Amino acid sequence: MRTIYLLLLILAAAAAAVSQTAVTTPEMPAWTPPTPRTKALTLFAPKPIKGGSIFKGEAEEWLADAIVRGMSLEPIKDQEVSDYISQLGQNLVKYSAAPNKKFTFVVLDDPDENAFSIGAGRIYINLGALRAAETEDQLVSVLAHEIGHDAFNHPAKTVTRQLFWMTGKRKVTSAADVQKALDDLAEAYRFVAETKSESGDHYTNKYFYQLLFGSHPPSSQRVTALKWESNWVKLPPKEDRYGNAAFSAMKQRIKGL
Ligand SMILES: [Zn+2]
Repeated sequence: MRTIYLLLLILAAAAAAVSQTAVTTPEMPAWTPPTPRTKALTLFAPKPIKGGSIFKGEAEEWLADAIVRGMSLEPIKDQEVSDYISQLGQNLVKYSAAPNKKFTFVVLDDPDENAFSIGAGRIYINLGALRAAETEDQLVSVLAHEIGHDAFNHPAKTVTRQLFWMTGKRKVTSAADVQKALDDLAEAYRFVAETKSESGDHYTNKYFYQLLFGSHPPSSQRVTALKWESNWVKLPPKEDRYGNAAFSAMKQRIKGL
């Protein structure tokens, strides 16, 4: 399995499950982006830092391709729902830390309430997350989080750290080389899993895993940072955030999927 190193890239979007009832597919109304908050300040927003990745330029694509090969991803077939999610995502990209990067957004036919980023601008969100979202704001917060991972190059940096510490690999030269590197990494993890019971198990030390996988600050720090930001960021009135015909139509359409 090549999926181990992906586990911590995954965001669990916690929300209540929605039961499936009526099966109707209403037309999707046009989606119009909300008015941008031109004066909004996020004073403590960090900026992406270069370095720390061996996947530069087209190597970022090689890595994303290799990761996709190791997973079985099945996009949903509803083009209108897919287009709606893409519009939400592309609008967010404009205001992200990587406004000029090419992004793609894919809705996967997967019931888990997850979304994830694999680098090269490729963002995946599961149908389960769409079902769980109660408002468009919740949905875009998940997409924005994943765009942030990509803009800050977390997937490539995370794999770079793992390759260095687990296999000693410090350079990639081709798509085939990247594929082999990921295979070697998976093999290294298999070796650790098989030998840990005999060797004292120090690889399960949580600080070691934080070093390899960590791209999130501890939750307590994130809550404190958000509280600080809320002193400067003026949110739109509540009614603006909850009434959206396109979101409602999407929710209706996915009941039939
Ligand atoms: Zn995340």
